[in-house]
This record gives sequence, structure tokens and C-alpha cells, in this order.
Amino acid sequence: MRARFWGVRGSTPTPQKENIRYGGNTSCIELRTDSPEVLILDGGTGIRLLGKKLEEEFGGRPIRGHIFFSHFHLDHIQGIPFFGPLYNSNNHFTFYFSERQDAQLVVDAISGIMASPYFPVDMSNLPCGRDYVNLAEGRLNVANTSIDVLPLNHPQGSFGFRIAQNGKALTYCTDVEMGVEWSDANVRKLAQDADLFIVDSQYTPEELDAHRGWGHSSWKQSVNIGIAANAAQIALFHYNPSHEDTAIDEMLENAKKDHPNVIATWEGLEVTI
Ligand SMILES: [Zn+2]
Ligand SMILES: [Zn+2]
Repeated sequence: MRARFWGVRGSTPTPQKENIRYGGNTSCIELRTDSPEVLILDGGTGIRLLGKKLEEEFGGRPIRGHIFFSHFHLDHIQGIPFFGPLYNSNNHFTFYFSERQDAQLVVDAISGIMASPYFPVDMSNLPCGRDYVNLAEGRLNVANTSIDVLPLNHPQGSFGFRIAQNGKALTYCTDVEMGVEWSDANVRKLAQDADLFIVDSQYTPEELDAHRGWGHSSWKQSVNIGIAANAAQIALFHYNPSHEDTAIDEMLENAKKDHPNVIATWEGLEVTI
């Protein structure tokens, strides 16, 4: 299984020279498995360049993709209108959303930003094929993978995922505030013995107190929970917009003192597990 990071920034895009190494695009991860189908985690602004790459790679052959949304905060959906493969009738995408929301709400959430006066193309006019799947807590099988889904503590709710294939597992827990037992238990369950644990690292421990209830965690909380779950590699993700490259460097340096195999994700990074 191979993960490529197209957007690692939290909350809002931050295109500025101080962020050039880690990147300013919001959440989007491409997952490739032994299936020709493409798995996509979140549709932040990083998905635009993923779309360009997929169009080049498939060269007109149909693209079959599965887009999983952790939740519908703007930074996780705002790239969708600029995802080129949606504008090709050969392609087909399945959108997955949480059980607490009905299909119409999801259509509304995404189509809400693809509607007048926000965007000139109405989502209902997209030429690609589309399905909407209601994610229940539990397990589903997509593109030869098994995917576990559990709710996490975040304003308006979010979902974490564990995607497994051929004995390897990748866990994605972005937008989660640690420190609430039911949610921490779900994170640990999803991350147990994971080969790659991608996790919310919005704050430094010093910043945490001023941001209780905002729905995010410090890198230290996230590393600690990764250690408790025996994750092999911990990937810091969803950086605070105010954290420039040098701040993330420092975060990584500190995190490595707690766990030998922590990485700070950056746009373009590929991890094979
Ligand atoms: Zn977010
Ligand atoms: Zn959020």
C-alpha cells in the first residue's frame, strides 16, 4: 500500500514562502493498493494536483475512485470543485460519509460549495458517475482493502479510518481532540499496531490550553496515543496555519525524542507500507 500526501495543512490553505517545504494545501491523501481503483482521504485543496496527476497517469482510461471524508469542515472539501476527473464522463467516484448524516446532507454539503453564487458549475451537472455511501461504524471492503471506521471527538463530529490490505494497515485520524475517553479509545483501536498512523498535530503542547474545545490535538498527545497503540510509524499531519516550516521542524525534532519513528508529512511525500 502506498500513500501520497497532496495536502497536509489544517484549517485553511497557507500558500506563503515560509511554508514551501511542508506545503500550504489542505488535507488530501492518495492511497494506492493492488487494486486499480484509487482511494482518496479528504478533498482539501491538495486534491486539485492529485486530479492533474491522475489524468496524466490514466491518459483517458476510466478512473474509478473512492473519496472518504473525515467530515465536512471546509478545509476537507474545498478542493472538490477543482478536482479535474469529476469533469469527465468516463470516470466514476463514490463519496463516503458518516452515518450521522443522510445522503442528502452530504450532497448538500459538497454541492453547497458547487452552487451559485459560490461556483459556476452546479454539482448536479458534473459529467462523471457518482455514488454516495453512508458509512456506518464498523467495517467495509473497498478496492480489495478492509476499512474500519470509528467516530472521533471533534466539533460536529469526524471519523477516523483504518485501511488494511495484505497484512499492512494505515490509520488516518485527523481533526480529533484527544483527552475524551471514548474518542481516545477509538483512536487507539484504529491505530493498534498500525504500520503508518497519520494523526492530527495542530498544536504544540504550549498552545493546547488556549485551544481546548477547538477539536484538535498537540503533536505530543498524538505521539503518546500512537505509542500506546504500538504504531510502527507516526506521521504528523494537519498543521496549524500559523506553523511555518521552522516551527514544524522543531515539532518533529521534539517528537523524535518521544518516538524513534515519527515523520512530519509534507506535500509530495510518499510512504509505502
Ligand atoms: Zn481540518
Ligand atoms: Zn474539522
